[in-house]
Amino acid sequence: MTAAAVTDPKGHRRLRPADQPNPDAYLHLVERRADGIVVRGSKMHTSGGVSSEELVVIPQRAMREADRDYAVAFAIPVDTPGVKLIARESEQAHDPETNPLSLRDELVETFTIFDDVFVPWERVFMCGEWQYAGDVANTFSNVNRQGYLGTDAGKLNLYIGAAQLIAELNGVSESPHIVDKITEMIRLQSLVWSAGITAAVQCTVRQPGLAVPDPVMTNAGKTVAMEAHYTCARLLLEIAGGAVITMPSVEDAKSPELAKYFETYYKAASGTADDRMRTLRFIRDLAASDYAGWWYVEIIHGSGSPAAEKLQMYREYELRKNVELVRQIAGLAAGSAG
Ligand SMILES: Cc1cc2nc3c(=O)[nH]c(=O)nc-3n(C[C@H](O)[C@H](O)[C@H](O)COP(=O)(O)OP(=O)(O)OC[C@H]3O[C@@H](n4cnc5c(N)ncnc54)[C@H](O)[C@@H]3O)c2cc1C
Repeated sequence: MTAAAVTDPKGHRRLRPADQPNPDAYLHLVERRADGIVVRGSKMHTSGGVSSEELVVIPQRAMREADRDYAVAFAIPVDTPGVKLIARESEQAHDPETNPLSLRDELVETFTIFDDVFVPWERVFMCGEWQYAGDVANTFSNVNRQGYLGTDAGKLNLYIGAAQLIAELNGVSESPHIVDKITEMIRLQSLVWSAGITAAVQCTVRQPGLAVPDPVMTNAGKTVAMEAHYTCARLLLEIAGGAVITMPSVEDAKSPELAKYFETYYKAASGTADDRMRTLRFIRDLAASDYAGWWYVEIIHGSGSPAAEKLQMYREYELRKNVELVRQIAGLAAGSAG
């Protein structure tokens, strides 16, 4: 397994690498040797760093000639001397009934340090070719963001399934406002899935056979996925009711003294009290837990902020073609302004 180490600390966000007061705000070349290069810096938020064999390191942004020492890309084993992986704390989900979802899904990120790390030439992909840094960063982000459109469409299916299940257990699944909410969730999930499929179908195949998804569909889909995630969470919580966060623990529900109260009062329209409590715990884990909070940030920033996604969408869209279309229909001379 490999981890992608792309995001630099960036220091002052509006300054380019060579203009930063801290020269280590972006990972950079320190020394060229006959057998390889030495690099210094760090990469933030490296997903799965601790469970990977290799780190693939690439520039995060376009560079100018002055930034050439920051245009470095390479792949090295995680245990290369000078590499330090500082992992975030785990959410420590521990119980399959309390955490039916988060127990199976945690990819810890690392703060990844490169303390004068030697990289042999055979593992260096880029060293000083600043003209290609932007293309490398954009190609990576397109491929990475399109991945969200499949995974998040699957995750949204969990919101939809949970909403329908708890509505049936509560006896409200046929109420018009519930049907309307679940329909809205289906609409959003379908849009995310269709953007992912379209981005793949409209891909560009580059030498030697790498398919890069359509950037406009990818970035449009990723921003819709973020909105869908928040809207579907809210609709699910509206449908599920307050017990998602007020229900007592599994230990209380199973205690010989208290179990009869749970069986009497947690049963609703259909299924058993246990069915309903398990469903409520699933919804808490999915939409109202520490794990859910992690996802609320991940779906915004994972693979780039929404502003970065919109910028790429705007840049890649065929704006001039559409302006020319309107000029033609409106009777203006071809392409004289803009
Ligand atoms: C759960 C998770 C997993 C991740 N996994 C990985 C991974 O595996 N590998 C990896 O390399 N990265 C990973 N990332 C990093 C992710 O790509 C970044 O979080 C994202 O690019 C935003 O960068 P940042 O966090 O430094 O925020 P910032 O760049 O500080 O952004 C904060 C705000 O400032 C704005 N901003 C930033 N720069 C400018 C500017 N120049 N002008 C105007 N506004 C600006 C942004 O648009 C945003 O609104 C992960 C992030 C998360 C949350």
